Amino acid sequence: MTAALPTTGLSNALTVDVEDYFQVSALAPHIARHRWDAMPCRVERNVDRLLQLFERHRAHATFFTLGWIAERYPRIVRSIAAAGHEIASHGYGHLRASEQTPEEFSADIRRAKQLLEDTAGVEVLGYRAPSFSIGHANQWAFDCIAEAGYRYSSSVYPVRHDHYGMPDAPRFPYEARPGLLEIPLTTARLLGRNLPAGGGGYFRFFPYQVSQWAIRRVNRVDGRPAIFYFHPWEIDPDQPRIPGVSLKTRFRHYVNLHRTEARLSLLLADFHWDRVDRCFGLRAS
Ligand SMILES: [Zn+2]
Repeated sequence: MTAALPTTGLSNALTVDVEDYFQVSALAPHIARHRWDAMPCRVERNVDRLLQLFERHRAHATFFTLGWIAERYPRIVRSIAAAGHEIASHGYGHLRASEQTPEEFSADIRRAKQLLEDTAGVEVLGYRAPSFSIGHANQWAFDCIAEAGYRYSSSVYPVRHDHYGMPDAPRFPYEARPGLLEIPLTTARLLGRNLPAGGGGYFRFFPYQVSQWAIRRVNRVDGRPAIFYFHPWEIDPDQPRIPGVSLKTRFRHYVNLHRTEARLSLLLADFHWDRVDRCFGLRAS
């Protein structure tokens, strides 16, 4: 029951946070970082599947990639760039900005930028903080991001959530620092509240039509592009299960994994998708 569409002519921004299933913040208490190297890798094959899916739909995307992934799997970064997608940074080690000192945070985001640029051979303009971890308490992070040479950040989700969110932040791109644009994840405004419409667990939990409605509303009522995100592990129902995880976290991480790829296909068919740098005219060509 998907309508044929791009109806507004707007390009929406498609984004992927490139990390493996064992690097997710909510699972961090259950997997020590020193074990990452020993975990079975799923990200290579999952990114390959995404690249095929995007090619079928002629969609382009921005891949916010961990420096840790670029270091171990440089082929992934090169194949993303070779397929015409944008390489951006998700930091090096997937630590929340809110759990680091400004010095640690700066070192992490600079290391990732350098690694990604050396691997892909292109300038990296964009950064996304792990778990949207920029809020009122750590606005200094924007100074670090600007000083590290990034031109945009997509690190704020203006919703209420127990792990992240800044519900009173602007819903649309704003200059966080001179020369640094913050591009928040998409929300739909309804009855005085911001509803999350930018992907992640909500996309897997609610029926597809909820996302379809919300993105259409943002395009038509607000006249703005949507910014949508997900992870390679979200199309991988066979990923190894992490033991000892609470019921809530287990539900959030594993719900409807087997449905996500088909839902993404609907989303890619129903809207026009492009890279963040192109949607917002950020790269001089
Ligand atoms: Zn992440």
